[in-house]
Amino acid sequence: MYRISLNTLKTTTTRQFSTTSTNLVNYGFVGLGQMGQHMAKHIYNNLEQDDQLYVYDSVPEATDKFVLGVTEENPTNSLKLTKLPTLSSFTTDVDGQLDFIVTMVPEGKHVKSVVEEIITSYKQNGYSPEYKTTIIDSSTIDIPTSQEIHKYVKETIPEFDFIDAPVSGGVAGARKASLSFMLSRDTISDVSPALTTLLNKMGKNIFPCGSKHGTGLAAKLSNNYLLAITNIAVADSFQLAKTFGLNLQNYAKLVAVSTGKSWASVDNCPIPGVYPDANLPADVNYNGGFITKLTRKDVVLATTSAEKFGRFLFLGDVGRHWYDKACERPDIANRDLAVLYEWLGDLKQAENGDIIDTKGGEHK
Ligand code: NAD
Repeated sequence: MYRISLNTLKTTTTRQFSTTSTNLVNYGFVGLGQMGQHMAKHIYNNLEQDDQLYVYDSVPEATDKFVLGVTEENPTNSLKLTKLPTLSSFTTDVDGQLDFIVTMVPEGKHVKSVVEEIITSYKQNGYSPEYKTTIIDSSTIDIPTSQEIHKYVKETIPEFDFIDAPVSGGVAGARKASLSFMLSRDTISDVSPALTTLLNKMGKNIFPCGSKHGTGLAAKLSNNYLLAITNIAVADSFQLAKTFGLNLQNYAKLVAVSTGKSWASVDNCPIPGVYPDANLPADVNYNGGFITKLTRKDVVLATTSAEKFGRFLFLGDVGRHWYDKACERPDIANRDLAVLYEWLGDLKQAENGDIIDTKGGEHK
């Protein structure tokens, strides 16, 4: 890896590359929320000798908290970490052009504005066309928006790249650096060694999903659609078992070795006390975990992306309807998706067929 100074670019036409070190990488990170703070921390903790990390969040307190937290815990790399005040400072306040910028922000509109601002700044402030800056977007967003951003980057600075690299593993996976990355690359050999090094700092698995931009997101949304739908089915099944008067802990263990087995019924079992050593959300009143409103977000992204690709999702509308309703209750929306089991228990069917949420409103 070599780095070119942007100041060099501004003042002279001769580009001065240094090729003396193989450990010379400039990382940028945008979005220090639930996931991003842990991902950026692992990059920080695993910086090589001459690497630098530049971080930014639109909430300045989030950036301050991150910088304070990681440097207090591990002062060794503190001189390699810089908090940036704006997105355009990624192109002006850094020691050289960035190699990688990871974005981990809520929605497509945020990714779009972040990328547009950074790319516009590079256009204004100078960049080396020989030197490729790659933006890695790990946010979960819709495929058409991601494709639009990719097209924008390629049309504006063809040498730069924008790669969809969404993750699975949730906050726990981000904290443990055990995330799985889904990448729009055909094979693992299409993932550059430098990108592999970066992703390995934050995760354990890299899944190449296809050659076209957006296939990483396609894999993420297909999987999370499956998760959302099986999660409702699991909640419904356990409520049925409860109505039948079954011993629910024994029923859960039966399901775990039967055809109803799934991540939602076993690894994230909604019945408290079945796996006391596993630290499941069900054992802590469904707190933590992957919250229902994010599951809803992924169902919406999967159904809208499917529509744009001309694919009708047979359980899409049903799933969307029930996640919409569940998220009308903040106590359900903000807890782990296994709480749908508890929520379905609050629903009763009236004589006219309407569904009443005994702790909320009426659901048609
Ligand atoms: P979050 O809301 O906790 O964090 C997002 C961060 O981005 C916030 O700190 C926010 O201030 C910042 N931000 C928003 N707009 C910005 C902008 N324009 N510029 C700079 N910073 C900006 O969200 P999260 O839970 O960390 O999730 C981030 C993404 O990862 C989402 O797309 C989410 O769907 C996806 N994801 C989340 C999980 C999870 O379990 N939380 C798991 C997998 C994927």
